[in-house]
Amino acid sequence: MHAPGIFRTASGAAHRPPLRFLTCGSVDDGKSTLIGRLLHEQNLIHDDHREALGRDSKRHGTTGGEMDYALLLDGLEAEREQGITIDVAYRYFATARRSFIVADTPGHEQYTRNMATGASNADLAVLLVDARKGLLSQTKRHALIASLLGIRHVVLAVNKIDLVDFDQTVFEQIAISFNFFAADLGFKDIAAIPISARHGDNISTVSVNTAWYSGPSLLAHLEGVNVDDDRLSKPFRMPVQWVNRANLDFRGFAGTIASGAVTRGDEVAVVPSGRTTKVVSIIGPGGEVGSAEAGDSVTLTLADEVDIARGDMLAAVRDRPAAGDQFAAHLFWMSNEKLLPGRSYLLKIGHRTVSATITELKHRLDIDTLAKLAAKTLSVNEIGLCNLSTASAVAFDPYAENRDTGAFILIDRNTHETVAAGTVDFALRRASNVHRQSQTISRDARSGLMRHKPAVLWFTGLSGSGKSTIANLVEAGLHSRRVHTLMLDGDNVRHGLNRDLGFTEPDRVENIRRVGEVAKLMTDAGLVVLCSFISPFEAERSMVRDLIGADEFIEVFVDTPLEQCIARDPKGLYRRALAGEIKNFTGVDQTYEAPEHPELHLQTVSSDAATLAERVIEDLVRRGII
Ligand code: ADP
Repeated sequence: MHAPGIFRTASGAAHRPPLRFLTCGSVDDGKSTLIGRLLHEQNLIHDDHREALGRDSKRHGTTGGEMDYALLLDGLEAEREQGITIDVAYRYFATARRSFIVADTPGHEQYTRNMATGASNADLAVLLVDARKGLLSQTKRHALIASLLGIRHVVLAVNKIDLVDFDQTVFEQIAISFNFFAADLGFKDIAAIPISARHGDNISTVSVNTAWYSGPSLLAHLEGVNVDDDRLSKPFRMPVQWVNRANLDFRGFAGTIASGAVTRGDEVAVVPSGRTTKVVSIIGPGGEVGSAEAGDSVTLTLADEVDIARGDMLAAVRDRPAAGDQFAAHLFWMSNEKLLPGRSYLLKIGHRTVSATITELKHRLDIDTLAKLAAKTLSVNEIGLCNLSTASAVAFDPYAENRDTGAFILIDRNTHETVAAGTVDFALRRASNVHRQSQTISRDARSGLMRHKPAVLWFTGLSGSGKSTIANLVEAGLHSRRVHTLMLDGDNVRHGLNRDLGFTEPDRVENIRRVGEVAKLMTDAGLVVLCSFISPFEAERSMVRDLIGADEFIEVFVDTPLEQCIARDPKGLYRRALAGEIKNFTGVDQTYEAPEHPELHLQTVSSDAATLAERVIEDLVRRGII
């Protein structure tokens, strides 16, 4: 990637904020050529780069020895070899009238993620269309993402107009169908411009070849378009990035102001806790200042000793963000692993990371028609609206009101892959008549009547590995020691509580979530709960671990090789699964993710069930539970 410094900055660029825009289009629509041409015509390329470009054009170019402007931008050697652009690259340039920051994003479908990254802080999107191909799904997808990510200004650059003989009808048909498609996407302005990036028509000067076109050149439009940056006029928001305790007397809260401004003496609220206090001092990079605004990185000291941690938000008292644990949001799914409603993901919003589940997928958007389709899951590159529930309250604004505090990502708990980008639509209110009843008899009081502590023994392993056999022996052993127990196992739960669930991945996730909740209630009653579930996915086991609390959760991995389970086949299920009569059978056509750090690892091939059960009981003694 080129360093920003390689482009000359024309002197006298007006002193207004740079226009942030991104270019998007399918591969070969001419994105890179367009920007290269723009820079070239503005004479913003240093002479030595021009020479190198001439050399490269002969070597790698696709223009038969002519200058290939795309090479200017496709700076990465790897990209040149592959002939595709693979990441978001930001370029800075300026004309006499305006300065620009342009994000060049790739056209391949799987790179929607990069497009979303580039779009999240852009004011305008240049959507490139190949005049010969017309409007493709990819352009519609990009328009949709741009709209959801808050871009309100669009240029529809109908490129390669020379290759359709500068035909007005071709141009107009594309422009009309785009306007029709985008009618409900909330764009403030759509400028359709016929261009040839290769030959320079309507790039920085109006072309004689398109005499029928009365609008401005692309550059003139970009220089003139009015996109007010309204972050300053929005209410004060500062997500706390870290708490600075330089010494015993100093406690400062550091972060970057996301919107609005703050002045010494201002009253601020801490969200989600709702406590309020006053700003005593504002410390910027150069020392103390009287006030600071959006974009500034500062440390604030406050009048009261309020409890504030990383991830909290400081906000204007009279105009606070929402604080809640349920909201509706659009998700852009980016992972090859499908979305699983009910699965626990990590949600990162601002500097806060919490557990979150998708409680309901309301619909998926059809990219071509924008129709709302019923959906059970989202696959890679799909976009849907869903309800989310977080483990604890977080501070947020609807994305439409604040792009900085209304965006989040979802992370896979195990692989740490970013699986989705999200934008908050609105907060969901919990049913207002549901309050946690404060209880006279506490959990500890209940437990105190028993001569042991509560715990969950979570037996996981393949079908036939021996979970129920061992759990039964453990329960019998505990019972004879007067320990109060309860057994939950896959078969009995599926006959009652979970009779509506099958064995697909989403149903398995929900199965375990419900069992986890029941086990939690039973530990509140003071019991030692024995849970015997295949529970094939690490994500759900760690969700239950979080729910119960690590002190009371004992994961017991009943480890039996698959061949051994097939040989035992106590319920004849493997025989049927292998014959194709049962679908989604763990070990046969669905994976089992073995626990990496179970509290107990029992190998059933080398010891008998009674010995292994005794080991479990000994472990409970060692942990001080019984
Ligand atoms: P799961 O509950 O894991 O599906 P089951 O307990 O129903 O498995 O079945 C396990 C089978 O394996 C039983 O028939 C049991 O007698 C047999 N088995 C043989 N050796 C062992 C062992 N060491 N531990 C547990 N079960 C064993």
